[in-house]
Amino acid sequence: MSVRLGEKETNKKPAVFLDRDGTIIEEIGFIDDPNKVVPISNAVEAVKRLHDAGYSVIVISNQSGVARGYFSEDTVRAVNGKVAEIFNNDSAKIEKFYYCPHYAHGIVPKYSIECNCRKPATGLVEKAIEELNVEPKLVIGDRESDIKLAKNLGILSILVLTGYGKKQNDYVGQMTDFIADDILQAVEWFLNFNNIF
Ligand SMILES: [Mg+2]
Ligand SMILES: [Zn+2]
Repeated sequence: MSVRLGEKETNKKPAVFLDRDGTIIEEIGFIDDPNKVVPISNAVEAVKRLHDAGYSVIVISNQSGVARGYFSEDTVRAVNGKVAEIFNNDSAKIEKFYYCPHYAHGIVPKYSIECNCRKPATGLVEKAIEELNVEPKLVIGDRESDIKLAKNLGILSILVLTGYGKKQNDYVGQMTDFIADDILQAVEWFLNFNNIF
């Protein structure tokens, strides 16, 4: 990728953080079964383009269904495994999946806490920075929490109109840097943006 003027040199790989449900796979409510995974059309192509442009692609997801007692962490991992299989089989490499199982008002005591990793908190991204030696550049997601996460990190955000995207209010639309029909349009805008600036 091109290095932007004024940006300090770094050995960290630039990274794009993607939301999972409603952004790279279809939003179907609390997803409790790997067999229910359906990739959003164009998402595989979008991940491929980011990868080819030199970005590390990382998925970060709030999975409060664990704290709510709907499913276990094993289920979350199985669903993530299925997503990884679908994308990686098509050479659209997702480097790693991170998720937050917490929710303050859940029913499973172990997970029903105020944590520092439920988006828009930055805990999952900080973990990725440490483990993968990456530098966050962009968050793409379908909800206010994704856009606020990017604000909290001081990086670009793109709201996609898939999943819950169309239900977000004007406030979210004004907070984000770009609104895209889907993740492929988001990625095209981002790669083009980096060529211009
Ligand atoms: Mg989502
Ligand atoms: Zn958490």
